[in-house]
Amino acid sequence: MKNLTILGSTGSVGENVLRIVRIHPERFTVKALAANRNVEKLYEQAREFSPRYVCIYDPQKAKQAAPKFKRLGVRVVTGGDGLLEVATLSSVREVICAMVGAVGLKPIFAAVQAKKTVAIANKEPLVMAGKLLLETAAKRGVAVLPIDSEHSALWQCLDKQDPSFVKKLIITSSGGPFRNFKGALSKVTPAQALNHPKWKMGPKITIDSATLMNKGLEVIEAANLFNVLAEKVGVVIHPEAIVHALVEFVDGSHFAHLGVADMRLPIQYAMSYPERLENHLPHLDLASLKTLHFEKPNLRRFPCLELGYTASRIGGTLPAVLNAANEVVVEAFLNHRIGFLDIPEIISKVMSQHRLIRKPSLPDIFAADAWARERAEELL
Ligand code: MG
Repeated sequence: MKNLTILGSTGSVGENVLRIVRIHPERFTVKALAANRNVEKLYEQAREFSPRYVCIYDPQKAKQAAPKFKRLGVRVVTGGDGLLEVATLSSVREVICAMVGAVGLKPIFAAVQAKKTVAIANKEPLVMAGKLLLETAAKRGVAVLPIDSEHSALWQCLDKQDPSFVKKLIITSSGGPFRNFKGALSKVTPAQALNHPKWKMGPKITIDSATLMNKGLEVIEAANLFNVLAEKVGVVIHPEAIVHALVEFVDGSHFAHLGVADMRLPIQYAMSYPERLENHLPHLDLASLKTLHFEKPNLRRFPCLELGYTASRIGGTLPAVLNAANEVVVEAFLNHRIGFLDIPEIISKVMSQHRLIRKPSLPDIFAADAWARERAEELL
């Protein structure tokens, strides 16, 4: 029986985690759930899964809802301290982090310090502070498990292989909605960019897929997670989204991970590892697919991918700066304040103006994040 804390339980990854718990009640117990402000959904989840704690991040909401949860026998905690509390409960073995934004960083570090296995679905912790996190985890002898589909695929291909035999880690990208777009990218609207061909996701990550910034962030994530240089991480466009990643070994052998494009697969593996559990998800039928396509990404048309490589190569606080500036400009694009091509333009400016800290602490990373948000906002 594995005891879990789920940070971000009311989001789409959090709900999928709970779906898997529902199918395998003999394997998983939910000890704590955390959400930002969706109290109604959190209450339904608490009723079904009977955690000991819930964290409602918004203190006002937490205060209002506490009596209701108390009647279920559930303790309510709140704010950053509440997150730290549920991330470090002594009975919990694995903490699954699916919170949007940088707010998950501190509880993840706390969980690692408390020797919990952490499974990470959102990119920010691994992009902003991946090196520091992996170093801390190695010191504590704790595993950091990726849920991002490409990184889960890499992790599965790398299983028990000697890292010195790895030549390249290759992640795939569906190419987003503008892969074959013939018109001017400067004129595309948020509605066009939100129309993703393969994955159903939130608006921020869908825009990141359209600019290929999602891949840029994933290059940083992969380099940090598997401790390789950015040059060793390749990206290939693969519109069918069946092959999620490949590992090339020095002898020319490639291991690939294939599966249907469904987030429940990598989520379940991060929960069941090192075992595999049967499920009712649709399975792959290669004969009916017939063909798979691969092509090179167009870095000139999608400069955000190149920005990801630059940030990873230079390292330090630069990945946090890229991530923060990107959040600001994507929001501005969604609100029709800037055009599609202003996204890489502004991020690139913010990055070039940043005063780098090579070996940042966690407070340095938060400071760089705040600086980049302010600078991007000014440049808008
Ligand atoms: Mg991904």
